[in-house]
Amino acid sequence: MCRHIAYLGEPVAPQDLLVHPPYALYRQSWAPRTQRHGTVNVDGFGLGWYADGDETPARYRRTGPIWADETFADLARVVRTRALLAAVRSATEGCAAGEGAAAPFAAERWLFSHNGAVAGWPGKLDGLAALLPPAELLELEAHSDSALLWALTLHRLRRGAGLDEALAGTVADVAAHTTGRLNLLLTDGTSVAATTWGDTLHHRALPGLGTVVASEPYDDDPGWTAVPDGSLLLTDGRGVTVRPLPSHY
Ligand code: GLN
Repeated sequence: MCRHIAYLGEPVAPQDLLVHPPYALYRQSWAPRTQRHGTVNVDGFGLGWYADGDETPARYRRTGPIWADETFADLARVVRTRALLAAVRSATEGCAAGEGAAAPFAAERWLFSHNGAVAGWPGKLDGLAALLPPAELLELEAHSDSALLWALTLHRLRRGAGLDEALAGTVADVAAHTTGRLNLLLTDGTSVAATTWGDTLHHRALPGLGTVVASEPYDDDPGWTAVPDGSLLLTDGRGVTVRPLPSHY
């Protein structure tokens, strides 16, 4: 299982969230603390962020481990952003290698990540895939369960669904066809939505700054709150709401 994190709030340098904290995403790539499946997350990584005045995010992804990339260290130091989504990847069975399969997946103003695996991929999802227009299937960023989950989510977003509604729809669709672990994370730069479906998720308010939503706490601050399994989280960077997903297992 991969690890992912999103932030909304006052401008920060990504390194202050992703690298410097003692158990940050950077360290989670080789020593995650609460990961339930897999051991290390070295099959690629990605950072997506929003620059002030531009609603389309920038993205930097690579195939290898996050610690082996000097450009990431530079970017994480000099960028300032009010919204980011980052992930480190542990590829699961049957999913393509390479940069194209590393989160965040992106389109228009959205960034998306999936922490988990779909049981029976790809066969169990052929019925769902067939519901997508061929053009959207041809746009798949990679041959992976995560890329298809992103296409299903994007399909809803483009038709006007809210972030939370789009994620809940994807989880319900997949759950109707098969089982799996579906911790999803989505942002448009002003809100963040996330699901818990088989793995861990936490959120924390950073006083005077904003809100972090992450697979696991990046430090031992008591301000972290664990999100129960089967939940849908939504935040605008100030308040956080967590409610049960409509259907669970
Ligand atoms: N199944 C996805 C992939 O292979 C996500 C992996 C994960 O969460 N470990 O990319």
